[in-house]
Amino acid sequence: MSSILSARIIRRQIPPEMAGPRGYERAKDGLRADFTYRCAYCGVREEDNGGENFEIDHFCPVSRGGAVNDYANLYWSCSGCNAFKSNKWPNEEMELIGVRLLDPCREWEFPQHLLEDESGILQGRTKAGRYHIDCLRLNRRSRVDKRQDRNELMALHDQAQSFINEMSDEIKDTEEFQLLVRVLDGLRDRARMTITIMR
Ligand SMILES: [Zn+2]
Repeated sequence: MSSILSARIIRRQIPPEMAGPRGYERAKDGLRADFTYRCAYCGVREEDNGGENFEIDHFCPVSRGGAVNDYANLYWSCSGCNAFKSNKWPNEEMELIGVRLLDPCREWEFPQHLLEDESGILQGRTKAGRYHIDCLRLNRRSRVDKRQDRNELMALHDQAQSFINEMSDEIKDTEEFQLLVRVLDGLRDRARMTITIMR
């Protein structure tokens, strides 16, 4: 497994004091920041989620022995992923053959276990990857659509970039050109961040 330093999510917030059956709800603000306002599983951003709520997920389900109020077991999740994940957790036999959920707080999920094809469909490259996609229904229509939208925007950006690359040096020296480059870079970054489990 990858070292903790290469995990996709690095927790930086100080966990609040949590006690009682719903004590973990106090962790909401910290989790949102630590998970960079996106779902731990499908990678959608809160503001790109079409009004679907976000929730606190217990990575190891409480019904499977996961701690209720341990900040390290709390993940920020869109309600769709949380509902599909529910209390799914591999049994010991499954774990022995490498079946498990991928953990964004302990590893990069991409590219060892998951591959995204050109149409935005995720494919599992390992038993863990396949189980992860399956448990979380990461190929549900809404998520594939978002990946396709992102890919189309990225392609449009590349097209615009290739046009401006062909412009004359005289134009490239202007302030307007530099501004255009910055706008295009901003659009590309915004499109890329819409939904991603790669970074
Ligand atoms: Zn999600």
